[in-house]
Amino acid sequence: MKLSRKIIIWSVVLYFVLSIPLSLLHEVGHVSVCAASGFDFRIWVDATGGHMLCSGRPHDRLAYNAMGGIFGATGSAAILGFWVFAKRHYAILVVGLAYMVDQIAKIILEGFYTRIYESGGTDVYITALQVISWLGFMLYFARVKEAAKVATSDI
Ligand SMILES: [Zn+2]
Repeated sequence: MKLSRKIIIWSVVLYFVLSIPLSLLHEVGHVSVCAASGFDFRIWVDATGGHMLCSGRPHDRLAYNAMGGIFGATGSAAILGFWVFAKRHYAILVVGLAYMVDQIAKIILEGFYTRIYESGGTDVYITALQVISWLGFMLYFARVKEAAKVATSDI
């Protein structure tokens, strides 16, 4: 199996470059519910990703917890939409799909398994899911299809 070096390099670069805006967008999702509930908030990014603090507890807990992943999934959909228009750049598809998987997992875990998510009990699974989906999509789309062997006599 041959792999396209270009797709692999761009998948790695894009994944890391987009991780900051994507995690900020995720936090903005939580912040939107926090702010709509009339609370103050803080939002920041560090080496471990995006973070936010809400000064109160929004009434609608499910919306508050799930909105991060919903905003993140919307951002991932925008990346995939971009790929549709720029079809040749498979790295964009790889990164969009990997982020979509990550954000949908976060909608489910944060929204419905909030306590275990907040305890950090799912961190190792989320990281594993991120790495596996990213590597999986990258290897899948980086495969170089062997040129079909067409005998000149067939043409
Ligand atoms: Zn979140």
